[in-house]
Order: sequence, then structure tokens, then C-alpha cells
Amino acid sequence: MRYDDSSPAPESRDSIDPDRPWYTRRSTLAVAVAVLAPTLLAGWVLTQVVTGTGTDAKRPAALSPLPASHTAAGDAKSSASPSPSASVSPQASASTSAPAAPARGPLAGKTVVIDPGHNTGNFKHTDEIDRQVDIGTNRKECDTTGTTTNSGYMEAEFTMDVSRRLRAVLEERGVKVVLTHEAGTARPWGPCIDERARIGNEARADAVVSVHADGVSAGNRGYHVILPARVKAGGADTAAIVGPSRQLGERIGSNFSRATGSAPANYLGSGTGLVVRDDLGGLNLSTRPKVFIECGNMRDGKDAAQLMSAEWRQKAAQGIADGIVGFLGG
Ligand code: ZN
Repeated sequence: MRYDDSSPAPESRDSIDPDRPWYTRRSTLAVAVAVLAPTLLAGWVLTQVVTGTGTDAKRPAALSPLPASHTAAGDAKSSASPSPSASVSPQASASTSAPAAPARGPLAGKTVVIDPGHNTGNFKHTDEIDRQVDIGTNRKECDTTGTTTNSGYMEAEFTMDVSRRLRAVLEERGVKVVLTHEAGTARPWGPCIDERARIGNEARADAVVSVHADGVSAGNRGYHVILPARVKAGGADTAAIVGPSRQLGERIGSNFSRATGSAPANYLGSGTGLVVRDDLGGLNLSTRPKVFIECGNMRDGKDAAQLMSAEWRQKAAQGIADGIVGFLGG
């Protein structure tokens, strides 16, 4: 949502059938192998899950269809208690994943940090997220809960879903991607807004995007991209990123609009889909080109129907990715 700065699915893997044609041959060797193979296989699977190795390279370009828990009704429940499969999700093991393919040309060696706004656990950790942090120009809450649709689909679920889809598209292009946090990990809330900025800075990201959806009254529709204002106070100095962040934001906005068919917000930005703000810690503390995108208004019925559509979210991720790739010169 736009008034905060703060920025707050598991996948299942197919079981591997150990049966093979040779298994029907009842020699001593075959029996021994038959006994040992499941054990070895189980050990291998466990190693893969624990280390997270070898899983990202096999991940498809687009995330597989989301489980039923990603419906509006299921989100509140799934956020309260992650399903057991979350603990074995390859994505749960790390927020950073290796590129699917080596990048060539202008995308070689590029790093993009994606910041899924809010965290589904923030609702249960209000004391922690209400703590004030220094954003250079001001002090602000560590993080916020984010908004929901009228039917209960959480902004934090939306942002995580789009962020994962976005990561998949970018990795397919060979870009290194870092998420500031990920559902199913040990992090039950946050990160705080200052840490979200720091992750992008320390990754020396070539571009950073924080994914959100707005929560304003019905009838207000469309997307907008938030650009950093020029600020200099305390630990905040955006002089070096104001220009490139605008270029990044313009590219993301136009590509998002083309990919989704959404119009620029009709309630701010004068129809440009671009808004400059000086009150967001995630932007003020960034030393890397960074924007926020508010993908739509969760409190508007028509926008909400789009935000809750997996097909639409894939388009949203594709549009954001296209904007980032264009900014990076790819
Ligand atoms: Zn938000």
C-alpha cells in the first residue's frame, strides 16, 4: 500500500518412482539393489532439499500453477500456518538462487534485487514491526502489514507471488536475482525497511524493485510507480540514484501497462503512472537505482479481480521484467 514504505507457496515436488523394468529380474543382485535404491534415493532427495543444490536449475521459466491455497479464501489460513510442503520447498532454502542460464551481452553479471512488500507474518508480529527505524530523513515503523482485498487476499501474498514469478523470468534471461525475503523461510516478519534497502545496497544491485499493491477506496484504479525524490539527511542521500531510478521506473511502468493492459492510476500521478516520494525509507536509504510499483488497488473490485488472477500476475511479472531488462540494456 502506498501510505507505508514498508514495504510485508509452497511448491511440491513429484515423488520419484523407484521401479524400473530390471526390478522384475529376481537375481540376488537385483534384490540387493531394490533394497538399497530407495534408501539411496531418499538420501539424495534429502540432500537436495537441505542444500538447495540442483533445484533452481530445474525450475521452469514460469512457476508452476499455484496450489489451491493461493485462492483468496486460502491465503489467510496459509499465512497463519505454512503448509508442511513449505518446509521442503527448494525455494525455502535460500533467497538467492543461481541463474538458469549464463547471461550473454549486456545482462552478463547483472544483479537485480526484488523486494516483496510486507510479510504475511507481520499481522502476528505487530510489536516487532511497529519498532521505529531510522530512514535518514525521519523515523518510521520497521514494517507494516500491508492491505488486503475485501475478500481477504493479502497484499503480502500478492507481492511474494509476483516476486517469485518475476525472479523466474529474470533468471531465464541469466540475471542474478536476490529476494529481500521469502515465504517459508525462518523469517516470520519483516525485514524492516532499512534492512530491505541495505540488502539492495550490499548486493550492489543494478536495479531494485519493491512490489506492492495499493489499498485505497473503490473506484480508484490502475498502477503507479514510485520514484525516489532527491533527499539528503542522516544516512539518506539519493542524489546519485534519482536519475537512473526515473529511467528504471519509466521503463517498468510502460512495460507493465503494455503487458497487463492496466492504465496508469486514475487517482494520483496526473495520469502518468509515476509518483515521486521523499517519505519512503526503502527509497531514501537506497544507493542503487530503485522504484516501488503499486500494481493495482486491492480495495477496488475490478482491480482486485485482476490481482487475484494467477494469469494476470504472470503478465504483471513479465511486464516488470521487461522494464528491468530494458533498463539494463538487454
Ligand atoms: Zn504495500
